[in-house]
This record gives sequence, structure tokens and C-alpha cells, in this order.
Amino acid sequence: MAGLYFHIPYCRRRCPYCSFVSFDAHQVSPYEYLSALLAELETVSRIPEVCAIDWDTIYFGGGTPSIFPPGHIRALMDRSSVLFPVLKSGAEVTLEANPESVDLERLCILRDIGVNRISLGFQSLDDTGLAFLGRIHTALDALHAYEAARKAGFANIGVDLIYGWPGQDPETWRRELEEVIRLGPEHISCYELTIEDGTQFAHLLSCGDLVLPQEETVLALSDLADSLLTEHGYEHYEISNFARPGFRSRHNMNYWSNGAYIGLGCAAVSCIPPLRRKNTADLVFYREAVCSFRSPVIFEETLDNEARFRETVVLALRTREGFTRRGLLERFGIDPVDYYGDVMDLFLREGLIESDGDAVYLTPQGRNIANTVMAAFV
Ligand code: SF4
Repeated sequence: MAGLYFHIPYCRRRCPYCSFVSFDAHQVSPYEYLSALLAELETVSRIPEVCAIDWDTIYFGGGTPSIFPPGHIRALMDRSSVLFPVLKSGAEVTLEANPESVDLERLCILRDIGVNRISLGFQSLDDTGLAFLGRIHTALDALHAYEAARKAGFANIGVDLIYGWPGQDPETWRRELEEVIRLGPEHISCYELTIEDGTQFAHLLSCGDLVLPQEETVLALSDLADSLLTEHGYEHYEISNFARPGFRSRHNMNYWSNGAYIGLGCAAVSCIPPLRRKNTADLVFYREAVCSFRSPVIFEETLDNEARFRETVVLALRTREGFTRRGLLERFGIDPVDYYGDVMDLFLREGLIESDGDAVYLTPQGRNIANTVMAAFV
């Protein structure tokens, strides 16, 4: 499995919690950016290692891909299907959309182009929460976007939510979750609000103008999502992700299994093992570089077998199935039980991980402090 990612770095307004690379359309127009992406796509498709891979997912992420003209998405899809056999094999094609930026007409065009999975950035279904998060849509906009996506024929809809904002208690969160369950999307992501360096929230926090909920409250919200969503048939398949059977995000599963992926666009990351590279986050430089057939890559590293092994272990621990001893031995020639020895014993004894002899995965208790557990495996 391997994935193709297009980064669409445009947003109408920057959200105060967000550290993703995004701009307004003044520096580089969407049309100029499309030309740059097409140029990079051509260059990348000539790399022999890339040609040899069977690409089977495409993901338009951002930024806000839903404000990129649908005709530009079509151009990228058309060229991708010529350069890679990706669309012919039932590829999963996802596009991230913000509720205020889609209507039935736009969603029908996207569906027609071949996008078959839409990921709606609800973030909250509570207008107080949305205002706090600096979103430019309302809860009603989110509901309308969802209905329009269904009407447009999307049979695979994902909804993103953020929990742990100040003032959100288990009752408010329960109401949001129940409303989402009532809608019945195939996929639900619940992300804990985290404060990223360089964001407006980081600044407010450092000035004492932002007070986050207590750890116990956040844990209670996380537990509530787990119990409510699993009770309603969603599989908690990754720390932050829930899906109806058969609707896991194939694109993200590839990341978590440390598979190959190509990221195109400003600030995009690619990994064709053992090589990993990152493009510049400077939009103007990115465009000038790719359009004059120069490399937009600003960072490149070749990971050795052991580094890939450790990375694969940590990523796999994010998933419900975790990693298998046999799988790692076959892939890297390293036995994780021998390699991690005492660390594994300790976590097993403390009930933070569990093993059936071959597979090793986080327990619900381990999931609650996943970052701490995973740090020991890095
Ligand atoms: S959260 Fe989404 S819409 Fe908001 S700034 Fe980040 S990428 Fe843009």
C-alpha cells in the first residue's frame, strides 16, 4: 500500500490552535500553485523507485483543499491517473473540506471528479466551542455540509472533532458526540486540543490568558468518546480515530504502518524507504523551484534499518492491533522482544501494553498516556 498526498496550503483565516503550513492566496495564486504541483508531479513520476510502487490512495490535505477550485483538483487527479495507475485500482481518494466552503454543487463536482471520501472539519458542534477555536463556520453550517455531502453521493464521510477546549465538560461533549452519531458518518476523528509552538494559543497560554482544562477532565472526555462511539458500532482503531467496520482511513493506515508515501506541495513530506525528504515551507520559493526544475527539498535523510524498525514500532502502537513480533522480524530482521527487553516487561507488568504472544498493543490504560509509553520505544 502507498499513498499520494497533495498539500493545498490555503486557508481563509488562520485558526489560533493550528500550526499547519497555510497562507492566503496573495503570495502565489491557486492557479500558479496548481502549475507548480503539476510540475512536481511530473518530476517525481520519473523517479524509478516511485514508478515501481503501486499507489492506491490519494489525499488532498491542507490548509483547506475545499477552497481550491475543483477544476484544479480535477487537473491533479487526471494527471495522477496518467502518471500512476492509482485510480484504476479502486483507490481511496480523500479531500479535506471545511463546512463553510462546500455546498451541494461543489460537492457534486468533487464526487464527479473521482473524490470518493470527504473529511469534514467540523471540530465542534457547539457554537461556543467553534468560536473559541476561531472557526469561521457554525454548527449549523457543519450539519448542512454533512447533508450536502450525502446528497452529493458520498458514501464515505469522515468528521473531525476537537475536544478539551476550556468550558467543555462531559455533558457538552456528550451532546456533540450524540449529534455526530445521529448523523452516522463512516469515520470520526477526535483530537485532543494540544498547544503547538508558534500558534496564537501558545502565545495566550504563555501570557496566562488561556487556561486549559485539568488533565482529569480531558481524560474523562477521551473516555466518553471511546465508550459512546464504540457502543454505537465504531471501532476505536487508532488513538484519535474511530471507524465503522471497513471504513478505516486507508491513507492514514499506510502512514501508521510506515509505508511509502509521496507528498507534493509546499511543506509536504515524502518517504520512499529508506529515504525521507521534506519540501520547503516557503510558498514562493517552492513555486519558483519546481517551475524551474530545481528541487524544493530542504531536508533529506536516509534512515538505517534500526531507525526504520523503531519508527515502525512507535507508529504501530498508535493502532489497535499494535505490532507483531513476526512481522517485524520478517521486515527488519529484529525481534522486538529481545530489542526492547526490560521496557516491554515493565509496561506489560504495569498493564500499559498487552501481548497475545505475537501481537503487542496498547491497553486502554496505555492509550491514555500513549505519548509517554511510545516515547520509551523511540
Ligand atoms: S485548522 Fe484548518 S482551516 Fe484552520 S488554519 Fe489550520 S489548516 Fe487552516
